[in-house]
Amino acid sequence: MIPFVLNASPRSSEKRYYARANTLAFRRKHFCDSLPKIMAICKQFGRCGKEQCRCNSGRLHGPYYYEFYIEDGRLRKRYIRKADGERAFAMYSLYRERQKKRAADRREFTEMSRELRSISRMFTQLDSLIP
Ligand SMILES: [Zn+2]
Repeated sequence: MIPFVLNASPRSSEKRYYARANTLAFRRKHFCDSLPKIMAICKQFGRCGKEQCRCNSGRLHGPYYYEFYIEDGRLRKRYIRKADGERAFAMYSLYRERQKKRAADRREFTEMSRELRSISRMFTQLDSLIP
């Protein structure tokens, strides 16, 4: 059972939640257009739906940790218990940081290779001008 669902009434069923989770808008909101290739761990806050609760004045419940993953071409969400969630989220955040750094390094490397090739071409042209 999913305890809290963002932007959905607490009565909406799990089935309806999954239908929503598989819309492009949901994916954009949570993954900025890119779906997790392996998996993603997200921290979320939510409302419980009780009338007299603090969450109705903006002090939301949470954080709750969830694993998002792709199964049979569909986006799935799984609750991670709090004891494991914090560690898993910290590790995942570190992984994402490293991943971003690696992507930036790769872009820099590509740019450097391009410049080196153009310098090499320049030398070749100069060679051909010298009799
Ligand atoms: Zn509440």
